[in-house]
Amino acid sequence: MKDWTRSETLALALEDCATCQGLGMVENKRSKRPCNCVLRGIFRLCYNRFRYCADKDKHIARTTLEVGMGRKSTRYIWGRKEEEYVADFFLVSRRNLEGLEWDIFRFHFLLGADWRLCCLRLKMDRGTFFHHVYRIEQRLGRVFRELQPYALYPLDEYFGGTVEAHEPVAATPQSAQRTNDLMNMRAKGNVLPFRRVVPVRAPLAKTEQDGAEEQAA
Ligand SMILES: [Zn+2]
Repeated sequence: MKDWTRSETLALALEDCATCQGLGMVENKRSKRPCNCVLRGIFRLCYNRFRYCADKDKHIARTTLEVGMGRKSTRYIWGRKEEEYVADFFLVSRRNLEGLEWDIFRFHFLLGADWRLCCLRLKMDRGTFFHHVYRIEQRLGRVFRELQPYALYPLDEYFGGTVEAHEPVAATPQSAQRTNDLMNMRAKGNVLPFRRVVPVRAPLAKTEQDGAEEQAA
């Protein structure tokens, strides 16, 4: 578990936050934790970078040479940081959200639906929707910062290639079984579950003009 300090949270806190008074930490005799405004700030920084990386033209993607630390020796590996970040953001969010929260995250943050569309689809009122959005932002903000060994935030450490000497995680019988299952699915031509990724863009609405053009064609 990561230790949070005021020197880190101060810059991320909302100046007029009623909970932390702009300090970013909520402290009492028994506990010390980052304020929710800080966690939401972290999520939004990560989300903005995710959108930037996902919307960027693919022909200007860059590869970078990074130092990878193995147990026995230092290795150099090629990486595509922006694509890795998009994948990490999506997969970490998928792992930490479920049910209704995952639906809201998918519709609102990945597909770009505004609160009206989401409320209509999920049959909830505006207040409940934003209550869920805030909870999602707070939960993911904390996860993005506390993720081990490589967190998604701070962004400069993620993209700057900060390296720590961690031993690779050994494969367990369960993970080996799962890998075999996935390979079998692929061999049979089935779509892997994690490949059903929705495109990141605002939902498109068909206009009357489009319909008229189609009929004319
Ligand atoms: Zn606060």
